[in-house]
Amino acid sequence: MEKFHIAIDGPAGSGKTTVSKRLAELLGFDYLDTGAMYRAIALFLHEKGISENDDAEIDKALSNVKMEFKDGKLFLNGKEVGPEIRTAEAGILASKYAKIPIVRKHLTRLQREIADSRRIVVEGRDIGTVVLPDAELKIFLTASVEERARRRWKELKEKGESIPYDEILKQLKDRDERDSKREVAPLKPAEDAVVIDTTNMSIDEVVKNIAKLAKEKQKWK
Ligand code: C5P
Repeated sequence: MEKFHIAIDGPAGSGKTTVSKRLAELLGFDYLDTGAMYRAIALFLHEKGISENDDAEIDKALSNVKMEFKDGKLFLNGKEVGPEIRTAEAGILASKYAKIPIVRKHLTRLQREIADSRRIVVEGRDIGTVVLPDAELKIFLTASVEERARRRWKELKEKGESIPYDEILKQLKDRDERDSKREVAPLKPAEDAVVIDTTNMSIDEVVKNIAKLAKEKQKWK
């Protein structure tokens, strides 16, 4: 089967993960969560005590690390990555290490290798702009920052992390700022991306819209 890449980018809380997973399931595509890779690598470097400013040590550590994505699961040095990457703290750490060019270089290479000749939905911040600029379909999901904070608050609460809404709102704004203003691969829609504002849309509606766009593109291939 011919390769077909669907890039889904957008800020934290825009619905990327839920939408991407459901879309992949609906279309029978593979799925890659690049945010999980940044989170796992950030925790790994942080636990090793390697600072964001130590390029040489980061390069050395990442050259030796083995990362695989199988059946929607991420493995680091053979061990499955667990819920520890889903905390608010891991998200903040991820966006700090994600600013470092050497970190992005390693992960971008790996993401391209994984996507290679597959039919796959890849979600992140720079998929349509940097990782897979030739993706057959590029989507940029957004939503108001208040709505995104509300979603994140609910999601963390369901996992037993109860953080005040105002704090989440502030964390999201800070993370948006870091992700959009960084020099390498900042968060922004690709020129040829379809931008979808999900503030007042259900997950189902968003998934159906994207699936329709994907089917239209496949027809022309
Ligand atoms: O999507 P998620 O919230 O899991 O991503 C965590 C962080 O990883 C983001 O805030 C961003 O800094 C970084 N990231 C990135 N590029 C990607 C995916 C995630 O810089 N493709």
